[in-house]
Amino acid sequence: MPTSKRTDVAIIGAGVAGLTLANKIIKSDPAMTVSLIGPEDHRNQRLSFWIDNNAAVSYESFLTHQWQSWSFNHRRAGHSSHHAHHQRYVSLDAKLYKQHLRKKLLDCGCHLAPAVVTRMDINPANHVVYTSDQAFNATTVIDTRAPLIPQATVKQQFWGSVVDLPRPHGLTAPMLMDFDVTPIATDGVTFIYALPLTSSQLLVEATTFSTRLQAESDYHHCVSVWLRQHFDFLLTIEPDKSESGVLPMGPVIPLEPGIPRCGLAGGAARSSTGYAFQGIERQAAFMASQISAGQQPETRSPFSRRTDWMDKVFLKVTKDRPDQLETLFMAMAQRLSGDDFAHFLSDTGGWMPGLRAIMVAPKLAFMSAAFRLAWARSWN
Ligand SMILES: Cc1cc2nc3c(=O)[nH]c(=O)nc-3n(C[C@H](O)[C@H](O)[C@H](O)COP(=O)(O)OP(=O)(O)OC[C@H]3O[C@@H](n4cnc5c(N)ncnc54)[C@H](O)[C@@H]3O)c2cc1C
Repeated sequence: MPTSKRTDVAIIGAGVAGLTLANKIIKSDPAMTVSLIGPEDHRNQRLSFWIDNNAAVSYESFLTHQWQSWSFNHRRAGHSSHHAHHQRYVSLDAKLYKQHLRKKLLDCGCHLAPAVVTRMDINPANHVVYTSDQAFNATTVIDTRAPLIPQATVKQQFWGSVVDLPRPHGLTAPMLMDFDVTPIATDGVTFIYALPLTSSQLLVEATTFSTRLQAESDYHHCVSVWLRQHFDFLLTIEPDKSESGVLPMGPVIPLEPGIPRCGLAGGAARSSTGYAFQGIERQAAFMASQISAGQQPETRSPFSRRTDWMDKVFLKVTKDRPDQLETLFMAMAQRLSGDDFAHFLSDTGGWMPGLRAIMVAPKLAFMSAAFRLAWARSWN
């Protein structure tokens, strides 16, 4: 017979979203009782994204690296780089950050149940969430378990490894997209992402945007070939140095449709890039403010309407004309400023960065995708 526990808020899943949300709820209303239910997340995870140079952020001490520049490469268009004056590309050690958030929650008296949720009864009067040995009676339940990704949704799939080279690699800034690789995805795009962690250490990831998933061995091969070509280095695969993932770029199927969701489950990943950390921060802050105002939290996109619309156009092009995506990213690399590019990908800085991105996009493919979306909408 499971023991019963009463709680104001039960959060399912103790990944970045669950931990961030629990911390924000307790910060905005210390009297609230919060139970965070889910196994401790020990995965290696390096999360990178752009923030303003002057932003004061609670996770600053977990940012292990930051850069004002980044670059791109393409077999035909060549090498391009950006330098930003007001934005920095930062890299967060998410494994350490999650440990820190857990400790903060324990210090605040939050109940951490490192167990898997086996079932739940959702009804307006009282929700009950079950693990194998506990039943949580909660006024509010929020789900952060990773959602199902439908076959038709474009996915960002990646595998990468930290590699220690025998000599300096010479990269002074992240290589965000090197398209000069043997393609893994036949109906999408493939590129290498490389972060210089020290003068001789790199995180190298092979990434695809495609509706289809590919075998992990294809990603090992892609990274191996890139390392051999650029540094004459032979990759050996060490699981404790690797990380991988499949991120939704578009609609997802929630595991439990009747309850609010946060994180990947709540659509916090930016559809055009899979970047999710800032979406999670915004979504968690919004939900915490609703709860502290006595409202039931809702699942809401953390991105502006203009960004959601532009991402829909981007995804239509990804599906219909994947060859145009390389052209788009290289056009943005060559013709947008570093600050505009960073604002555009972070959904900050208002309309102008997005408008400038539209101006440099390959017109035919993007205008026809926008037209077809508007047409489909007018008939639905
Ligand atoms: C390797 C990797 C690198 C990434 N890099 C970046 C990046 O550079 N920049 C960026 O912005 N984003 C990045 N992302 C995307 C995004 O930030 C992460 O996926 C992030 O972990 C999403 O957090 P989440 O809490 O929504 O989901 P998850 O991290 O998937 O957490 C879901 C949690 O639910 C738990 N769970 C599942 N089932 C149950 C159950 N039945 N009961 C209880 N708990 C359950 C799981 O154990 C897990 O801890 C990356 C993702 C990965 C995987």
